[in-house]
Amino acid sequence: MEDIERQVNRFTMESPLNVVEPLGGLRIFDPPLIGIAAADDPLFAELKKESVIGSHHLLPREWLPSAQTVISYFLPFTAAIRIANRSDGLPATEWLYGRIEGERFNEALRRFLVDLLTDNGHEAVAPALDERYQVINKRSNWSERHVAYIAGLGTLSLNCSLITARGSAGRVGSIVTSLELAPTVRPYREIYEYCTRCGACIRRCPPLAIDESGKNHQICSDYVDNETKKRYAPRYGCGKCQTAVPCEDRIPGR
Ligand code: SF4
Ligand code: SF4
Repeated sequence: MEDIERQVNRFTMESPLNVVEPLGGLRIFDPPLIGIAAADDPLFAELKKESVIGSHHLLPREWLPSAQTVISYFLPFTAAIRIANRSDGLPATEWLYGRIEGERFNEALRRFLVDLLTDNGHEAVAPALDERYQVINKRSNWSERHVAYIAGLGTLSLNCSLITARGSAGRVGSIVTSLELAPTVRPYREIYEYCTRCGACIRRCPPLAIDESGKNHQICSDYVDNETKKRYAPRYGCGKCQTAVPCEDRIPGR
């Protein structure tokens, strides 16, 4: 596991995909937090419940029959990207690059991990890159945030982000592998444990997509499509609920 961590950190710090040259060589992500879940963790079956995600959510062994382990990671945005997006209103240019070019790096990191494991004689699949990956009614058949929760990386929040020890401003990814690794002990018991329900993200949201009961995904995606994609295509994004809030770069209240 230490070797995987070391190689992931080196890839993150050396990959040209983690650098935005048009913004003066801005680095997008700091090295990720990594969490490990056992492929047969009973919480994966819970995700099939309609009240959580739905029956279309696949188990690790439905992605890879030989699966023993799920490796999940949280890539924290660098301070430069987070701070730039602390203004109100439209997204910062740095955030837009972090959202779009950052996801390209995230895809490259998934591939890097799959190659690393297969080169060492193990089987590995990145569900988000697999041809079976699909989104039904805005719910994917592999929820990176819920997987990260199971892998001990953090809990969900009022605005449906993942709050980790490095906050919520970042991107999440995972792979499923036949390599057996010791699971991370989850340092929490409840799915929303790290969110204090302080309401700061409610006040940050330009289209008022968040209230005390949670986030309205339709209002959020309509705003991102109509207000940001039209202005900034091929980029888009918002992330105001993940910046200038107590959970931006830490577990709030700690
Ligand atoms: S800003 Fe406050 S309410 Fe919103 S997700 Fe963060 S901790 Fe929860
Ligand atoms: S991403 Fe923007 S629009 Fe969507 S919930 Fe967060 S603040 Fe609101």
